Amino acid sequence: MSTLSETFAIELQNVCKTFLSDAHGKPEYAVNAVNLQIRQGEFFTFLGPSGCGKTTTLRMIGGFELPSSGTILLNGQDVSNLPAHRRNINTVFQSYALFPHLRVLENVAFGLAVKRVPKAERLERAMKALEQVRMAHTADRRPSALSGGQQQRIALARALVNEPDVLLLDEPFGALDMKLRREMQLEVKEMQRRLGITFIFVTHDQEEALTMSDRIAVMSSGQVQQVDHPIEIYEKPANRFTAGFIGEMNMLHATVLGVKDGVLLLRTGGSEVPWHGGQMASGEQLIVAMRPEALSIVEQAGDDQVLFKGKVGDAIYIGSDRRYAVHLPTGGHLLVRVPNHAFGAQKILCQGDAVQVACPLAALHFLSH
Ligand code: ADP
Ligand code: MG
Repeated sequence: MSTLSETFAIELQNVCKTFLSDAHGKPEYAVNAVNLQIRQGEFFTFLGPSGCGKTTTLRMIGGFELPSSGTILLNGQDVSNLPAHRRNINTVFQSYALFPHLRVLENVAFGLAVKRVPKAERLERAMKALEQVRMAHTADRRPSALSGGQQQRIALARALVNEPDVLLLDEPFGALDMKLRREMQLEVKEMQRRLGITFIFVTHDQEEALTMSDRIAVMSSGQVQQVDHPIEIYEKPANRFTAGFIGEMNMLHATVLGVKDGVLLLRTGGSEVPWHGGQMASGEQLIVAMRPEALSIVEQAGDDQVLFKGKVGDAIYIGSDRRYAVHLPTGGHLLVRVPNHAFGAQKILCQGDAVQVACPLAALHFLSH
């Protein structure tokens, strides 16, 4: 049997960063005990709200910031205290800062000139990097003659020319408009697959993270909440933070009633809900969460569904579907998304209509923290 263990592109072991202390001298953690492993050739994304520690984590991986404690491994080597220029890592920032007086090709070759790579070789490598981002035809232009998306591609080429093991990208599409941003997401993802370089990406945009990533680390308050593939992040959120941050989620408070026929029974939203495999004591509180698209408005309960009775509040038409806020007798409401293709079969509901909302048992998420 093989005893070889995988060498990760990047491994963070208990990495912490504090910049400041509070009024009592207690350190405030920008990054708090982060442990994770990023595989060779992986597209790995840090996703979380502003201020949660994404950039600080990325800067520590790049060597622009040293951890207050913990260890950073690059290809299995401890680089925790190595400066940025001693790590084979490159960074693409949101502001691409191309030199306006240099042609595109010279912009890309600039870093190699600083490293005293001979001229013929650096122009050849710069041309190859431009081909990798499909911008070779702009080699002789000035950056000002290019669109924002094209300039961002040149910034990528400028990083790729160094043939890094790992490329760090901190909100690189932040300055682009929505349509261009979507195009760049698909393009950069395709490029990463083609080149096989490990990409570590930072964004606060969950759709961007879901679109581009092999795996996502969801962060909040300096801590990693969940590391998983996009499908698992969306369909199996590990806790309330991830459930609430990714996509739309209905969350109801629930109380454990007890065990009936070997199944835990909860009370929530005026209904009783079974939790197969759940283990909590009577009286304990938790959250039951449901995606709006998992819910439907029904006349009667089908097999393996729970029903919630309520009254239609707001009804919003958004083109692809209609959203109903169904108010529950216990307070709170459930957001239900009814796709418009269902309308042939389903009547349009009005405010005040009494309805029943069905949720398949398999679509219930039970979140105890
Ligand atoms: P994000 O990129 O997720 O928006 P950051 O990593 O930039 O978050 O910041 C995380 C926290 O660390 C924030 O509270 C921020 O104010 C703080 N922070 C970041 N850099 C510094 C710094 N150089 N000095 C002091 N505090 C900082
Ligand atoms: Mg940031």
